[in-house]
Amino acid sequence: MKKTKPCSIIPPKDRLASYRAAITENPNNASNNDLSILGMGDYKKLWKPGRELKIRFLEDVSSSFLLAFSKAITHWIKHVNLKFVIVPNGDADIRITTDSDDNKSLIGTDALTFDQDEATMYLETTPSDENFESTVLHEMGHALGYLHEHLHRDATIPWNREKVYAHYSEHYEWDEQQVDEQVLTPYSGAIVDTEYDKNSIMHYAIDKELTDGVWEVGINTVLSKLDIEMAKSTYPVDPDDLPWKDL
Ligand SMILES: [Zn+2]
Repeated sequence: MKKTKPCSIIPPKDRLASYRAAITENPNNASNNDLSILGMGDYKKLWKPGRELKIRFLEDVSSSFLLAFSKAITHWIKHVNLKFVIVPNGDADIRITTDSDDNKSLIGTDALTFDQDEATMYLETTPSDENFESTVLHEMGHALGYLHEHLHRDATIPWNREKVYAHYSEHYEWDEQQVDEQVLTPYSGAIVDTEYDKNSIMHYAIDKELTDGVWEVGINTVLSKLDIEMAKSTYPVDPDDLPWKDL
């Protein structure tokens, strides 16, 4: 069976532009920390609640792909106060390429700092894959502004670091720095103050061969209870939009 590279978060090209885009889009993304030391997770990259997010595929995709993709992201859509529109051409907030050998994405508003002809999400998966839906949900989670759960600052995963470096080097040719960034080093900040969640769709599957031999996480295939709480708290419904506001 082919091995797909684990998802890696695409960093912004320019951290200052990333921060500016984040706070212009949604003032609640602002951080009190010194800008010069801001790291991943030290400020939020959430879209403005209530806004419309346009999604465009950079290549032609089949109608069955579009249908499967739309069906998958519905699991997020029903919990966030955002409108999603897939557009065939023109400007779009999230640009997806399927011409890829891995699955990865920018985080939330970082997409605003990339040019319109540049992809903000890469999908290697196709609807015939068993994990298509969970992969799309995971990458859409990044596009909504969510980070990797295994790097939650409260995650205390009993890694066997030697084996982790060897594993990612052997299978995916990741060097130690990449492994440190994508797998081993928890974020200093948090996007939202939800507790660490092994069941999150944003968590890597982790084989017990890479830990103390006991600790493991399987492939999470659906949004967890805390994922849904996070979606609702980061994109809350505007009280003015509630149907009973005038009652
Ligand atoms: Zn990811």
